[in-house]
Amino acid sequence: MKIELVGAAQTVTGSKHVLRAEQSTVLLDCGLFQGRRRESQEVNRSLGVDASELDAVVLSHAHIDHAGALPCLVKNGYRGPIYTTPATRDLCAVMLEDAALIQAADARYINRAIERDGATMDRVTPLFEPADVARALGQMVSVPYHRPHSLAPGVQLTFLDAGHVLGSAISVLDVRDGDMTKRLVYTGDLGRKGMPILRDPEIPTGGQVLVIESTYGDRRHAPITAMDDALSGVLRRAFERGGKVIIPTFALERAQEILYALKRLRASRRMPPMRVYVDSPLTAKITDVFKLHPDCYDEDARALLAGRDSPFDFDDLHYVSDAEESKALDASADPAVILSASGMCEAGRVVHHLKATVESDRNAIVIVGFQAQHTLGRRIAERRPRVPSSASNGSCAPRSPCSTASARMPTRTTSLRTRELCVTAARSNASSSYMANDRRRTRSAQSSPRTGYARSRSPPAATCSRAEVEERALDRPSRALGA
Ligand SMILES: [Zn+2]
Repeated sequence: MKIELVGAAQTVTGSKHVLRAEQSTVLLDCGLFQGRRRESQEVNRSLGVDASELDAVVLSHAHIDHAGALPCLVKNGYRGPIYTTPATRDLCAVMLEDAALIQAADARYINRAIERDGATMDRVTPLFEPADVARALGQMVSVPYHRPHSLAPGVQLTFLDAGHVLGSAISVLDVRDGDMTKRLVYTGDLGRKGMPILRDPEIPTGGQVLVIESTYGDRRHAPITAMDDALSGVLRRAFERGGKVIIPTFALERAQEILYALKRLRASRRMPPMRVYVDSPLTAKITDVFKLHPDCYDEDARALLAGRDSPFDFDDLHYVSDAEESKALDASADPAVILSASGMCEAGRVVHHLKATVESDRNAIVIVGFQAQHTLGRRIAERRPRVPSSASNGSCAPRSPCSTASARMPTRTTSLRTRELCVTAARSNASSSYMANDRRRTRSAQSSPRTGYARSRSPPAATCSRAEVEERALDRPSRALGA
């Protein structure tokens, strides 16, 4: 038995691990690498695995950095089964279709920049199309937790609950090796004990080989009660100031956890009478999938359901559907809580809400998830005094690339003046060299403007070289980060 770590080795995202057994070859997860556009394009164009040698694929959960390259795999000819839990299969239907839209929007955006600036670089094509997503979904085979399944000659799979996101699974693989059977445990991403909604991760036994990822391996999380206390305090103070609370959220799991937390705070009268808006169509779709799978809930969440209540519904909760309604939220002076994607503030409707609120000290921003380097969310979490604002014309339709740097317009920065910034779960251990470089950039940017906005020293777009266009279009975080 051999294991090859093709992705997510010495980095985060892009999980892909190949198990080569005596009689079969199995791929564990098939995720997209997520980072700056240039790097993501280079890494994700190559699968790193030969689709024709695979007998089966096992998918641990629906996050894009574990499942996002499955459409690429079928586009490259893989026609075998993709084993996953029923909830993960349903989530993938939403997540991968959204990823295909992001792929298309990213390609259009970069190609427009290339055409506009007359660069000679090759046009960009999406990594995959909606048809590839449909084919990948058609190859998925649902396997419930705890039910052993022979997935290929000499390899048996049993899923255990990983407690990470809805449907997430630890894969226990019993692999025939000569006249012995060896047990390989692949954890995928593991959840924390005591988190709301989902059951705690199960502990596998008898493993001889363990493959585990460790994004938060060096970090001790605060207890969930501390997070509730922090959130309650921010809400109460913002309400007293007549301000808004903006919560950038990942559409899968974190958004549902925050909704459940708000419901708890309301039930215990620790939340002021503020309306709560979920302004993310993807979040609404994923929450619907959650409602389909109460079998994945823990006892508390199930008890709520037994009383005909839902963890994701309460009075004064409103799901925003169209873009006009989204913009109207910013025009309103009423105190409110707005949950919106993307989770790292690089795209989506949250960018508009941040633009409308960051310069007033009545408002608050609550960062509740992982923030990758070079993202706006990371800069906010690090409490930079000035952060980049979008150079778009303000027409931030859903899924428009409004927060990415324009190749024609100069990048602007804006002051972060919200009175409080609550960071409950972000990872923000940027290197000191990155911090120093950024401070230099900020100083040079602040020295020029009369308008209050700083202008970068980029040359006019008309004189951009090919390299400069590539740099501007590609040297930004991929929009897929926000998934
Ligand atoms: Zn994950």
